[in-house]
Amino acid sequence: MERCGKKNFKLDKEIKLFSSENRGLLLNKIKSQSFDITIIGGGITGAGICLDAVSRGLKVCLIEMNDFASGTSSKSTKLIHGGLRYLEQFNFSLVRETGRERAVLYSIAPHVVKPEKMLIPISKGGKLSSFLTSLALYVYDFLANVKKKDKKRSLSKESIYNIEPLLINENIQGGVIYSEYRTDDSRLTIEILKKSYRIGAYPINYVKYISSQNYQNNLSQLKCRDQISGKEFQINSKVIVNAAGAWVDNVVIGKKNKLLLSKGVHIVIPKNKLPLKQSVYFDAVDDRMIFAIPRRETVYIGTTDTLYDRSLDNIRVKKEEVVYLLNSVNKFFEPEIKIDDIISSWVGLRPLIKENKKNITEVSRKDEIFISQDGIISIAGGKLTGYRKMAERVLKQVSKKINIPFSTSQTHKIKISTSSFEICFKKVSNNFNEKTSKKLFNRYGEDILKIHKIYIDLLKKHKVKLLVFSELIYCIENEMCHNLTDFFTQRNSMAYFEIQKIQKEVELFKNLYIELKGKSRKVFLKEEKELEEYLKKISTFI
Ligand SMILES: Cc1cc2nc3c(=O)[nH]c(=O)nc-3n(C[C@H](O)[C@H](O)[C@H](O)COP(=O)(O)OP(=O)(O)OC[C@H]3O[C@@H](n4cnc5c(N)ncnc54)[C@H](O)[C@@H]3O)c2cc1C
Repeated sequence: MERCGKKNFKLDKEIKLFSSENRGLLLNKIKSQSFDITIIGGGITGAGICLDAVSRGLKVCLIEMNDFASGTSSKSTKLIHGGLRYLEQFNFSLVRETGRERAVLYSIAPHVVKPEKMLIPISKGGKLSSFLTSLALYVYDFLANVKKKDKKRSLSKESIYNIEPLLINENIQGGVIYSEYRTDDSRLTIEILKKSYRIGAYPINYVKYISSQNYQNNLSQLKCRDQISGKEFQINSKVIVNAAGAWVDNVVIGKKNKLLLSKGVHIVIPKNKLPLKQSVYFDAVDDRMIFAIPRRETVYIGTTDTLYDRSLDNIRVKKEEVVYLLNSVNKFFEPEIKIDDIISSWVGLRPLIKENKKNITEVSRKDEIFISQDGIISIAGGKLTGYRKMAERVLKQVSKKINIPFSTSQTHKIKISTSSFEICFKKVSNNFNEKTSKKLFNRYGEDILKIHKIYIDLLKKHKVKLLVFSELIYCIENEMCHNLTDFFTQRNSMAYFEIQKIQKEVELFKNLYIELKGKSRKVFLKEEKELEEYLKKISTFI
């Protein structure tokens, strides 16, 4: 059945294919037709390409070998930014493009992209001088076309302490405050995938690309494995796009490696240990700069930037990486943070394009497209912030390949969530207070209404008030969430920001979860064990 265009909406009402409970049906639909484009990788890059392609009326499939956004796209600093430090590399075009994209992303997804002021303290003998920082931020604001009221502002020594009283470095001489945006990276990715599904694409998780071969009539056949049943099957597609992030080289087997991987670690500290009021970008103990960003009841600190050439499975945070971040934060802020204060962490790999003789921190973050002999279009490098423009460049290549006219992308007009907070809040305020509503709206946009309905149904039928469980049911039925780990990581990120509440929540809903979702106790225990192992992994260091 055709999913592009109006018919899709009818189909969407008939059956929720983006529910993990209807996965078999979705798989059958994917197997039984051929696509214009099949994308490998369900991170932000793949999601952006998926939305761009389906909005042009193409038939699109996307496969992700694990959960959506489980790769680097849930492990970033979660900033929608132009990358001030790329000015050092004189990468003006990257700063200009990503800088301008910030406002576009805010306009299409204001529920998940929020303005954020960033403070840079200037210290005597520090990496940045007051003059150079001001100049760099002037250029930054200019390239990014920042509105006058949001342009950078210089701060005296006195006013910087008013803005952030926890700064201790006696050498601080003043500072600068400038405009950025923050996001929730995995939510942004999943929201885009959900939108592309609703327009007519077929994104599916837990399907791994194995290999491909030319088939007939300019079709390629992708050999894939369903990671849940273990069964192999084929997908037919005119074009294959490799958006596999750090795994890009693995997909293009036998070709010279294009990528250099850089490991980036973040640690999470409860806000009561470091009650930071303001996001700060400050000098680390070496010649780099790192961020400290308040979020919910926590502050996260990162990132490291070191060459990584080990296995891509089971990447762990090392104690020495944690010590580097702690030493850096303790140099600038008080009270002192100790390793035992850390409640959670995440680690991601930046897929960077190799450049001769350059040190890992100097390698450009620009994206690059390359087409291999077997015709696979691969994209690597880039940033979360630039996903729309990267998608547009890929679609230009796709258009050439399937011989259709290319036009500029229209995704800047596609609102990811169409309703405002105020409208939604009116409809849920009898049961959800403003704080809860904001939290849910910032994750799910107008779909807070669906979560509210689930919550009310549970209350009526089972006499329970289970908010997190309502969220879980919503994610299973609308976001292809398969298990507890998918939920507490990529869906609501409690694993990183509210890790201490998870066990209690699971206790509260486990019997209903087993009953309502038809899980056997054995399956539930397996899910619970996997979740426990994951939580242990992110809260301990090797
Ligand atoms: C520490 C750190 C901080 C960062 N901070 C920022 C920031 O603040 N702002 C910003 O704009 N950018 C930031 N970035 C960059 C940004 O996070 C990445 O550029 C972006 O997330 C990469 O997305 P991706 O989709 O290309 O890769 P991924 O998110 O890794 O997605 C690739 C996906 O492909 C899947 N895959 C691989 N092989 C297969 C296969 N055979 N079959 C099916 N699926 C497969 C993987 O499972 C994975 O989910 C940061 C990066 C790091 C590492």
